[in-house]
Amino acid sequence: KIRTRIAPSPTGFLHLGTARTALYSWAYARHHGGEFVLRIEDTDVARSTQDSVDQIIAAMNWLGLSYDEGPVYQMQRLDRYQAVIEQLIAEGKAYRCYATPEDLDAMREAQRARGEKTLYDRRWRPEPGKVLPAPPEGVKPVVRFANPIEGDVTWHDIVKGPITINNREIDDLIIARQDGVPTYNFAVVVDDWDMRISHVFRGDEHVNNTPWQINIFRALGAPLPQFGHLPIILGDDGLKLSKRRGAVSVMDYADRGYLPEGMLNYLARLGWSHGDDELFSAEQMVAWFDGSHLSKSPAQWDPAKLDWVNAHHLKQVEEGRLAQLVVDQLAHRGVIAAASQVQNKLALFKDRCVTVGDLADWLRMYFEPVAPSAEDLATHVTPAVRPAIATFAGKLSALATWDKAAIQQALKDTLTESGLKMPQLAIPVRVLVCGRPQTPSLDAVLEHFDQKKVVELLQAR
Ligand code: GLU
Repeated sequence: KIRTRIAPSPTGFLHLGTARTALYSWAYARHHGGEFVLRIEDTDVARSTQDSVDQIIAAMNWLGLSYDEGPVYQMQRLDRYQAVIEQLIAEGKAYRCYATPEDLDAMREAQRARGEKTLYDRRWRPEPGKVLPAPPEGVKPVVRFANPIEGDVTWHDIVKGPITINNREIDDLIIARQDGVPTYNFAVVVDDWDMRISHVFRGDEHVNNTPWQINIFRALGAPLPQFGHLPIILGDDGLKLSKRRGAVSVMDYADRGYLPEGMLNYLARLGWSHGDDELFSAEQMVAWFDGSHLSKSPAQWDPAKLDWVNAHHLKQVEEGRLAQLVVDQLAHRGVIAAASQVQNKLALFKDRCVTVGDLADWLRMYFEPVAPSAEDLATHVTPAVRPAIATFAGKLSALATWDKAAIQQALKDTLTESGLKMPQLAIPVRVLVCGRPQTPSLDAVLEHFDQKKVVELLQAR
């Protein structure tokens, strides 16, 4: 059975890179009718928080990445790791190491002086014919894995292809710290084994850890999963995507009014392709995502492309749902509106928007007073057009029916009487009523306002 997992460390929000890994793992499981597991790697107790777990889960829910098991917390599995460690020690596959940090510093210094790679010299590893010193008083040991000394570790990476590392390149990994808490490379193996994970997708910063993990799988007699190491995501400046260089949290984009389907579509394409398809749904991705066409080269974060993708999805959203999303965005802006007051106005503005946030920025004028900038007032609402604005206000207030056609007629009549051209009147009206010089068709925009309100706004300044 295909089983995948995402294993975030809860030390912050859900990072875009982790979200992409989660997406691929999820899609791969769904594509094969398998299962997807959420595991929380919280062994870094000092930096892990429940708040971060909550944020990660919120972001996964927002993206629609449903998991079949979890969250499983590593810190609740310490007894299990301890038992496996004891078993490995009993079998001679792991051992206690009493070397102090000072011992190890001296060891590395000497290795450097000889021009050698700094690898642990196995001084505490029991070997045939070797006499180990008595454990020093007062030193708490760590536990090290007795890595094979000879031979190669080889695997066929789903993304990178075949990879071979000689065991001489890697040393005896610490699998339990002095306090007994297992290290990442060990816990991850016990977990992937116990959770029957068949495919491991993760960032390629972990590719150097995989040989150790494979050796531990073998020592445990556990079946090996397949590994796929995804290349990093670069910022649009070509450097690794990081907090300092813009938003890297999935929920920042949610807060800004990007759509989950837009984000999912965009993330999917950061390192994977399906022919020339750029715009697709989660269902289509699941149907297509079979682990092929994963890119070996780094992906580049491209805000303009994200916007293009999101704008496409914005046009597809069912209007009832979109109205509710706009209501939420308006609430972020301190503006209270009901979905029923929002829904009939969406069509007018949707095409010029990238995010739900943009829609909210347009629609807020219907729910709270706008404040035109002094510059727009000075440029567009000139003394020369004031009489025509007053005429227009008078005609609007006299309208018996308030609809597009009537408003259009009032506009035309005002132009005829004043001798102005359409923009000469329409732009100052927009500035006064909407707070900006450009809007969709004026009659359509005004129709959605209250008649009295428009007249008031035109007469107020
Ligand atoms: N906790 C690790 C990380 O967030 C998980 C790596 C893995 O998937 O094995 O990078």
